[in-house]
Amino acid sequence: MPTAKFDLLPSANPTADAIRNDILSNPGFGRYFSDHMVHVRWTVDAGWHGHEVRPYGPLTLDPASAVLHYGQEIFEGIKAYRHADGSVWTFRPEKNAERFRRSARRLALPELDDETFVESLRALLAQDHDWVPTPSGEADECSLYLRPFMVASEAFLGVRPSHEVDYYVIASPAAAYFKGGVAPVSIWLSSNYKRAAPGGTGYAKCGGNYAASLAAQKEAEAQGCGQVAFLDAAENKWIEELGGMNLFFVYHDGRLVTPKLTGTILEGVTRDSVLELARDEGLQPEERHISIDEWREGAASGDITEVFACGTAAVITPVGELVGEDERIRCTEGDNPVARQLRSKLLDLQYGRSEDKHGWLTRL
Ligand code: PMP
Repeated sequence: MPTAKFDLLPSANPTADAIRNDILSNPGFGRYFSDHMVHVRWTVDAGWHGHEVRPYGPLTLDPASAVLHYGQEIFEGIKAYRHADGSVWTFRPEKNAERFRRSARRLALPELDDETFVESLRALLAQDHDWVPTPSGEADECSLYLRPFMVASEAFLGVRPSHEVDYYVIASPAAAYFKGGVAPVSIWLSSNYKRAAPGGTGYAKCGGNYAASLAAQKEAEAQGCGQVAFLDAAENKWIEELGGMNLFFVYHDGRLVTPKLTGTILEGVTRDSVLELARDEGLQPEERHISIDEWREGAASGDITEVFACGTAAVITPVGELVGEDERIRCTEGDNPVARQLRSKLLDLQYGRSEDKHGWLTRL
């Protein structure tokens, strides 16, 4: 049952078991949605109110809604995992809740308190727990991807923070993000486009950042690459991150380096978890500036032995090659032992196969 705070309007037409099971056997990513969604309304006068779990379905938006014109919008991405005993858990939701508040502040949206954020996931899962796929074995990285988001819904064309806002959570069953699993991916180094500028919205998870990355993503695809690496906008020199993942570099002497947070990089929950897990292993991970020349030279000299990307959707994925306008930099030799080890550690935790020493799991 949903928690007391959320009223329930059950779907009159829930997906039949046979159809849902068919979807769960091959869900892909982001294409199918569960039977319900969360909705909470905010107005300048009444604050947050009307907490409900209602049937999944199209929204009615006035064509003048601010989000459709000025992109005042933020979102989150977090997964629910089914453990072997059937229970359903999520991973560090308080980090997503905190980031959601940071994003809200940057986009001049109202902040949703962390408890309501986590409760909203629980309220949805109370209805749609059957939509969390059951892994068929350790190699099966299926989950229910949860997408909380907030949009400016006031019908007003003046450019100012909206006086009406709606918060939703939808859920989509997911298989592994990259079809190749842990196979190394090729990354396109964007020279024409920047993702984020100092003082801009890089650290916020807002739709505009992703809209701005799509032209570069198109270039990447034309080059046979799955993701884009962006350099900083001020000096065109420092490695920031990928369009949807953070980056790590492994050095031959065991150092692990990730670009430090400068306000233009999204602070990934996976990034933070990798830093913690690396410390557990006795490694001394560094958060610092790393230049594209250091990447080029390190890869050429063998000083850098692995590069990997990390994020909720794709966990940890080795980068095989960085492709630029007139260069191809091979990033790994061998089978990426550090990335593989960190990846198994993270997945074992998320799927309840190892002890949760950090208290990172929350039962939904
Ligand atoms: N950077 C960007 C731009 C992203 O969209 C994401 C995905 N949320 C990440 C990094 C990784 O963040 P997380 O580990 O919290 O999923």
